[in-house]
Amino acid sequence: MRKKIVAGNWKMNKTPSEAVALAKMLVPLVNTDKVDVVFCVPAIDIIPVAEAIKGTKIALGAENMYFEESGAYTGEISPAMLTDAGVKYVILGHSERRQYFAETDETVNKKVKKALEHNLIPIMCCGETLEQREKGITIDFIRTQIKCGLNGISKDDITKVVVAYEPIWAIGTGKTATSAEAEEVCAAIRGVLGEMYDKETAEKIRIQYGGSVNGKNAAELFAMPDIDGGLVGGASLKEEFKDIVNY
Ligand code: PEP
Repeated sequence: MRKKIVAGNWKMNKTPSEAVALAKMLVPLVNTDKVDVVFCVPAIDIIPVAEAIKGTKIALGAENMYFEESGAYTGEISPAMLTDAGVKYVILGHSERRQYFAETDETVNKKVKKALEHNLIPIMCCGETLEQREKGITIDFIRTQIKCGLNGISKDDITKVVVAYEPIWAIGTGKTATSAEAEEVCAAIRGVLGEMYDKETAEKIRIQYGGSVNGKNAAELFAMPDIDGGLVGGASLKEEFKDIVNY
């Protein structure tokens, strides 16, 4: 039985003091172990939010990470910096990073491998554009993202990875995929993972849906057999996040 995981992606929102205030507001509302709850916060907010959630059941996540150990990579954050600060999860390959910061399946793959080396749990994102959906190539496109992004990950490690299916047309738009649309792709992702590893291994991997998840639609989405929780943007910055966690 896969445990559901609900992760908030705060994106480029909240200064350190605002982040602490948000974390403190949310902690009593979402401090549960019925689902894994993660706050993925901007790099500069990691240390103060770690302090604000200390002693709770909430885990800390980062929104990105570089694939080298250390060195002359101005502006980047290393995996050891994250683990030393108490980070457990890291979002990798979010569509906004692919779109604005030139991330590719190849760099995402390097990051996933490096995160696993450091015992960080990657939340690897994939998702199609509206144009790809309209052309009917969604599943083919996602298959490539999964095969490239997770290329070379061992069978032991793959069960630690969380995959987030996030149709780009549904991110921040208020336009959610229907539960049937989301399930179709999440089931296809599990199918690809089954081909890459085996069915039993694929059954252990958690697959989230992301894209305008809110307090009203979470329960229906999370009831789908292949949807193991959500990656939540906008609604993770509000009290409403509690309705998603306690769906
Ligand atoms: C996201 O940023 O991963 C996301 C799904 O955003 P939103 O919930 O705002 O659509």
